[in-house]
Amino acid sequence: MNLLDTTHDPALRSWVASANADDTDFPIQNLPFGCFTAPSVGPHDTPGSARIGIAIGHQVLDLRLVQYALLTGQAPAWGLTAETAEGNTLRDWIASLAAGDLNAFMSLGPAARRGLRAWLSAALAEGSPLQAALQPCLRAQADCTMQLPCQIGDYTDFYTGIHHATSVGKLFRPDNPLLPNYKWVPIGYHGRASSIVVSGTPVRRPLGQLKPPTAETPTVGPCQRLDYELELGAVIGTRNALGTRVPLEEAEDHLFGLVLLNDWSARDVQAWEYQPLGPFLAKNFASTISPWVVTMEALAPFRTAFTRPAIDGGDPGTLPYLDGEANRASGAFDLTLEVELQTAAMRAAGLAPQRLSRGRWTEAAWWTLAQLVTHHTLGGCNLQEGDLLGTGTLSGPGPDQAGSLLELSGGGKAPLTLPNGETRTFLQDGDTLKLKAWGEKPGVRRIGLGACSGTVLPAA
Ligand code: MN
Repeated sequence: MNLLDTTHDPALRSWVASANADDTDFPIQNLPFGCFTAPSVGPHDTPGSARIGIAIGHQVLDLRLVQYALLTGQAPAWGLTAETAEGNTLRDWIASLAAGDLNAFMSLGPAARRGLRAWLSAALAEGSPLQAALQPCLRAQADCTMQLPCQIGDYTDFYTGIHHATSVGKLFRPDNPLLPNYKWVPIGYHGRASSIVVSGTPVRRPLGQLKPPTAETPTVGPCQRLDYELELGAVIGTRNALGTRVPLEEAEDHLFGLVLLNDWSARDVQAWEYQPLGPFLAKNFASTISPWVVTMEALAPFRTAFTRPAIDGGDPGTLPYLDGEANRASGAFDLTLEVELQTAAMRAAGLAPQRLSRGRWTEAAWWTLAQLVTHHTLGGCNLQEGDLLGTGTLSGPGPDQAGSLLELSGGGKAPLTLPNGETRTFLQDGDTLKLKAWGEKPGVRRIGLGACSGTVLPAA
């Protein structure tokens, strides 16, 4: 369990002024990890090499520059050499992060993450004696080119959004929308890690086999029903050995944090190929994630009781290996999720992006993150640091809470009208799709996950 500590104090302010703005996603209470390249700031700073940074307001604390300041004695020891219970020091941890290797740091587990968080919080707080030494280690986010935050070895996409599963099921099977296994087993498939890209990377419309219901035989061509899926992605921090399973009460110890995930989907390709083995080319051309991994500690204030959404047929109960007191009491996180669309014409006319949906994670999910980890390992599958577990599309119960165009347009039958008169059933070339998520509640500092965006390029 993640307990609240002084790093969550809503009154805590940073000497980095932009981190104190009410609407920033990255106040000092957040401190997410990202990987980036940036212009060299001197002969000691290898140009073009990736390093890990911490987002703070509009700035990034560059841990390569922090390490350099330490190594060259430009800064005092900063309390970084005291040994931890694991026999490491904060200085050792910063070395792997300075080298751009988030996986190595993640594998050290929650204690290292909490130790570094406490140090960063104190170092970046107003009145910190380290301000003068750390000031030159900051970079403007605008000067940083974000990379994938870590090496993603494997990617699994779940299907925890029960309203999404029901709505999509209705489109495919009107009389039998939710298959009988759904309420008992966390449904998922093993996805493709190689085509996961970081926010801002353009996404090319894929080709695929298409067979409209009226056609006798399939053809090959550009996807005509390109869609997005609003999801969150959990990043695994520590592995379990092959052949072992992770009990529910230990599951969260294996999680490092969360990113936003857009599981771009070619619906026409999907409809033709998905039986009998599930999604394949409909999903493997690109999946976009946000660059900043928001840690389990940063999310702790937004923990809440896990209650399953009310749904037709009710809740049949949970098998014992997926049920536990802590999971029920505080296994969910209350985040608001939003999707925005800006078409090429809107961009050309200077029109702001249009919101397509807004909903809450707690109203969408049939399973918690802990249950996903525990189920994934039930048969002995080994999760590894850097693995990504997608939640599946997180649609709320309302019509304006759906996390895909497939749902918002009723399977393409009810076009959406945008403020400039354009209509959409599915995505067109030039469309920019952006996902956002944040936590906000009384007595707690608001934090956000940043943005996850991508623009559709024409088929090659
Ligand atoms: Mn998905």
